[in-house]
Amino acid sequence: MTTKPAMAKLLTQLSLLRFFPSQPEMRQALADYIEQFANTDEELDWLGKEMIRLYREWPSVAELRALFCSKFQPKDGLNNLPTCAACGEPITPYHAMVDGLHGECWLKRKGVQVELD
Ligand SMILES: [Zn+2]
Repeated sequence: MTTKPAMAKLLTQLSLLRFFPSQPEMRQALADYIEQFANTDEELDWLGKEMIRLYREWPSVAELRALFCSKFQPKDGLNNLPTCAACGEPITPYHAMVDGLHGECWLKRKGVQVELD
């Protein structure tokens, strides 16, 4: 269960992102959408913090859900993360994606050695 104050706090955090919709009816539609997949207030809290850490501008509802699904199991069971065609792992918003592959997997395919610390 999520509560109204936690949802209101999330929408306020998201409003810090440039181009976040300002009309109340659009915010309500977004709250209804988030309700479909979020399970708890703790998840809403995490989502708000991560969104403003990762993004400067409002990306899209699909991106919001993908970020959520990279960490939590969605209540409605609809995980919309794309899958990498090279390694079969999900591509989360934390990965660079190139041609439907993880950036690293794309580089490996091209024969480029990736050095990671
Ligand atoms: Zn991959």
